[in-house]
Amino acid sequence: MTTAAIIVAAGRGTRAGGALPKQWQQLGGRPIAAYAMDKFAGHPRIAQLILVLHPEDIDTPLWPREPAAHIVTGGATRAASVQAGLAAVGPDITQVLIHDAARPLVSDALIDRVLDALQSHQGAAPAVAVTDTLWHGVADQVSGVQDRSGLYRAQTPQGFHLAELLAAHATSTGLETDDVAVARAAGLDVAIVAGDEDNIKITTPDDFARAEKLMRHHMDIRCGNGYDVHRFEPGDHVWLCGVQIPHTRGLQGHSDADVGMHAVTDAIYGALGMGDIGQHFPPSDPQWKGAASHIFLEHAVALAAKEGFTISNADCTLVCEFPKIGPHQDAMKAVMAAYMGVASSRLSVKATTSERLGFTGREEGIAAIATVTLVKS
Ligand code: MG
Repeated sequence: MTTAAIIVAAGRGTRAGGALPKQWQQLGGRPIAAYAMDKFAGHPRIAQLILVLHPEDIDTPLWPREPAAHIVTGGATRAASVQAGLAAVGPDITQVLIHDAARPLVSDALIDRVLDALQSHQGAAPAVAVTDTLWHGVADQVSGVQDRSGLYRAQTPQGFHLAELLAAHATSTGLETDDVAVARAAGLDVAIVAGDEDNIKITTPDDFARAEKLMRHHMDIRCGNGYDVHRFEPGDHVWLCGVQIPHTRGLQGHSDADVGMHAVTDAIYGALGMGDIGQHFPPSDPQWKGAASHIFLEHAVALAAKEGFTISNADCTLVCEFPKIGPHQDAMKAVMAAYMGVASSRLSVKATTSERLGFTGREEGIAAIATVTLVKS
């Protein structure tokens, strides 16, 4: 069985408040849909990820550029959007999971339960049994009690064998609220697997706070530090945080000696617990002679992404008397942000002197320290 995950992000959902469709609103510094995309893209049993977008969103920067995702334009209804996603599955795909972009807290274990159930059912979907007493009410008065036995709250991802779901959608009315309804209308059997109370659908403004609270429990937050020093040598410029600055001397080093970028790079490796620049790019290896330091930084950033982390922030302090850093701070932040794939508002580059004390005070070299925070949800 080869599985595609289709994330439906074509809705215009406005009940959550805010100016943007809810799947693009920010949760913990990222669009809501980014969390489910990461989860399915990183799941070992998912071979293809398809993201269905509203036509108006395609050419906007709203949606996360997950390189593994196949992008599809959605239709006028939810069913039409799912059908567009189904039309885009690869030739090897035999089953599909359809997930709501507004459920950011889907877990690997939940995905596995749905996939396991598909081995013996035409369809499978997670749900949570209703445990609260259910009332009927009229004008804020309790008018009756609903028997809750056999009632479930439905969740996603909903999984199906591809051929059966395609046939079911071919006869759908387009009015069904989810794919289980489409499948059942076509006579398919759909197993209920254990849902997850944390797999909430963000619908109202209150749900953002609830999701953020739940995420903090799931979150892996890592902090790393980096420290680097390079000695001055004769020259006419230095590279600091990716910016070339004219100076009366240069910095000595095996690479371009960008001490600030090296400190930030080492802080990322440090947060990952995965060594340092010297280990990944040995100075004894001639291929790194004179190398541009962004090669090191981009390697560390890619390694963090491969491990499932995003960069929450980075703070770098350059310690020197000269050159003066202030005029170049904004350019440094912009360059570093581009290499790190984060907003420059999440970066800080600042400078201090050491009051003419020590090697930096005597202008023998430049030091840099950096702190980076990585987050995995
Ligand atoms: Mg260095």
